[in-house]
Amino acid sequence: MALMTGKQYEDSLRKMKFKVYLMGEKVDNPVDHPIIRPSMNSVKMTYELAHDPQHEDLMTATSSLDGKKVNRFCHLHQNTEDLIKKVKMQRLLGQKTAACFQRCVGMDAMNAVDSVTCEMDQKLGTNYHERFRKFMKMVQDNDYTVDGAMTDPKGDRGVSPSKQADPDLFTHVVERRKEGIVVRGAKAHQTGALNSHWILVMPTISMTKDDADYALSFACPADAEGISYIYGRQSCDTRKLEGSEIDVGNCRFGGHEALMVFDNVFVPWENVFMCGEYEFSGMLVERFAGYHRQSYGGCKVGVGDVLIGAAALAADYNGASKASHVKDKLIEMIHLNETLFSCGIACSAQGHKTASGTYLIDLLLANVCKQNVTRFPYEIARLAEDIAGGLMVTMPSEKDLRHPEIGKIVDKYFKGVNGVPTENRCRVMRLVENMTLGTAAVGYRTESMHGAGSPQAQRIMISRQGNLEQKKKLAKEIARIKD
Ligand code: SF4
Ligand code: FE
Repeated sequence: MALMTGKQYEDSLRKMKFKVYLMGEKVDNPVDHPIIRPSMNSVKMTYELAHDPQHEDLMTATSSLDGKKVNRFCHLHQNTEDLIKKVKMQRLLGQKTAACFQRCVGMDAMNAVDSVTCEMDQKLGTNYHERFRKFMKMVQDNDYTVDGAMTDPKGDRGVSPSKQADPDLFTHVVERRKEGIVVRGAKAHQTGALNSHWILVMPTISMTKDDADYALSFACPADAEGISYIYGRQSCDTRKLEGSEIDVGNCRFGGHEALMVFDNVFVPWENVFMCGEYEFSGMLVERFAGYHRQSYGGCKVGVGDVLIGAAALAADYNGASKASHVKDKLIEMIHLNETLFSCGIACSAQGHKTASGTYLIDLLLANVCKQNVTRFPYEIARLAEDIAGGLMVTMPSEKDLRHPEIGKIVDKYFKGVNGVPTENRCRVMRLVENMTLGTAAVGYRTESMHGAGSPQAQRIMISRQGNLEQKKKLAKEIARIKD
């Protein structure tokens, strides 16, 4: 089964035995839970579009492992064109879902682990890369969704993993057996965990010798014995339980994050890709983060396209679209959004081949991309709220609009330009609300800030990659300074 259909994907998730808690209750059927289901629909879209001839070129690729057609989310990038197509694919999916479609974390993790295991083996004589390629082949053959898991809870930020009061605040090996290892700890903010078949774990920071037990990368089924999930709340999430289509803003799609707990999980050696090689943990973190910072130059741009469209529609329905300041605000939103896209494309076009053959983005430009993502979506959201007006947060509910008596009042007083049904105006206002303040704001706002690393993490990389000394040399040359 090289390419699963959306239906096959959904069915495959139903067979998983997740142990998940949501708002204090155990959930037996995550796929159909009204709060979780929209996030599943977003991942499902990554399967459905792969069968659409119109999007085949972006959504699929030829496997470097066996020449077969695979979903691009399971592909190892073979050239800069692959890196560019990845960003375009993410923009497309952002446009189709207006949410986080989750599957990129695994794609970015697989590409990072691929090149790092190869270089680790070359230096240390280990055989991780061969194991990893077998895992990759299995993922491609089954068209699995893999969840890349990096972020540990981290406890006291001023203390290294092995010096924490509680040793489990960073995921670590607790036992090494002949057949495999036993792992304990947790990964936090885990995007798409319950819509994934496999988890690919990576260390969260660069480690030292004392933290060798924490320098760990492995894969395991997402429902492996000992793994449990505690589902993260989102702003306005319980609106999904009310059965209203309008009030949720985006009734079909969403994203999710969860706390993923490893309670003595056994992992056979064949699925272990780093275990104690602390010198390589920093490289893995840097590459995964780099790929995911590139990713944001695609996904956030696609979601931004929908938000800009929603703001323009709101202006139309309000009768304000001819006002010059509104036109200018829309231009500014487009300018900011396309600047993010330019960064995503640029870091891809400047990518290079690594020892494993897999292509890596330009790390400096990928970090510049993500640094802009920590700012521009906020300005785009601010302008969208400005254009939409206060009604997006003061409007009565769908139940009021549909009410046999007060419905007429709501319809009468919330009408904008003549000829546009009040309901349409309500729908677009709620969409702006959803993307700027509601469930989708997790993906478009706070995730823009902290996802793929908080702003300071990019500034550290920018200072490291920025080559200031060479710039000083250039200045000296021009100014004719002789030391
Ligand atoms: Fe993909 Fe964007 Fe979600 Fe990351 S935040 S998983 S890049 S959609
Ligand atoms: Fe993310």
